[in-house]
Amino acid sequence: MTDHTNTSTPVVVAVDGPAGSGKSSVSKAAAARLHWAYLDTGAAYRALSWYVLQRQLDPTDSSAVVDSLPDFDYRIGTDPASYQVFVGDRDVTEPIRTPEVTAAVSAIARVPEVRSFLTELFRDIIRRTDRDGIVVEGRDITTVVCPDAPVRILLTADEAVRMARRAAELADHSAAHVGEALRRRDAADARVVDFMNAADGVTTVDSTDLDFDQTVDAVIQVVQKAAHV
Ligand code: C5P
Repeated sequence: MTDHTNTSTPVVVAVDGPAGSGKSSVSKAAAARLHWAYLDTGAAYRALSWYVLQRQLDPTDSSAVVDSLPDFDYRIGTDPASYQVFVGDRDVTEPIRTPEVTAAVSAIARVPEVRSFLTELFRDIIRRTDRDGIVVEGRDITTVVCPDAPVRILLTADEAVRMARRAAELADHSAAHVGEALRRRDAADARVVDFMNAADGVTTVDSTDLDFDQTVDAVIQVVQKAAHV
């Protein structure tokens, strides 16, 4: 079997931020422009949430969730142009985006054993990157998963702007409903990790007054300055 592990360590760009900050699409576009890899860590929490619901377990029953970890066979691609998410043989790229999975994910993400299990999994994927760098986005990448990354960014935007962007993405849902669900999820997630305030050494990129391309430019500028690429 070919070993695709890079001989030199990839440059890690750690990006955290709340839901609706544009974190995923901006990180993906920045990775594509740099010809680097991209890792969506939220997809793993979502896939575990999907798996727990699929097994008809209660997502708030932390011991049942922890017991299901050894059988959780997870794979994700890191090509920013297109990536798929698998649990076993099942392609769950689309199913992990349903409102049911989204509603259950925060309960799963607050279980410490889940977080340490997935953190190790992310570090392993990062080590195996076959490109010169990887943009890794989530909630605790700058603080827990890759606190020593040479580039660490907190991507924020005012709450009203985040809600409007998310509502536009989910055109078939009412703005009020989307806003409420997003606020509830952020509040639950913020009890576990602080992704609203930049930790020491983390650069804040506020996209409130920036359009998508300007936000990608701002992120790339931080990368170029910090990693000299
Ligand atoms: O980024 P996304 O909205 O897909 O993340 C889904 C959920 O996964 C978040 O609401 C949060 O509960 C969890 N998550 C996390 N830590 C990360 C990434 C995601 O707790 N690094």
